[in-house]
Amino acid sequence: MPRIHFEMADSTERTQIGEGLVRFAVQAGRLETGENEGKYYLNHADGCGADGKRIKPGDGFFFDTETGAILCEEHGKARRENDA
Ligand SMILES: [Zn+2]
Repeated sequence: MPRIHFEMADSTERTQIGEGLVRFAVQAGRLETGENEGKYYLNHADGCGADGKRIKPGDGFFFDTETGAILCEEHGKARRENDA
């Protein structure tokens, strides 16, 4: 699962993730932990890796677990088609 699709971002800065994604977030330098224990977030405040577009709350986006890149819906889909 090199590229994870998130249906909706929680905020412009970060989105909550499950434990299964924590190690990928750490590798990417994107892990944030919440005030409450057991809560993990993926930081995506830098926006899309292709065009710098900010991920807005409620937007879908992609997280590439291999490169650590964040991609907006448009660029994530474009790359997925190129992979196929
Ligand atoms: Zn983009």
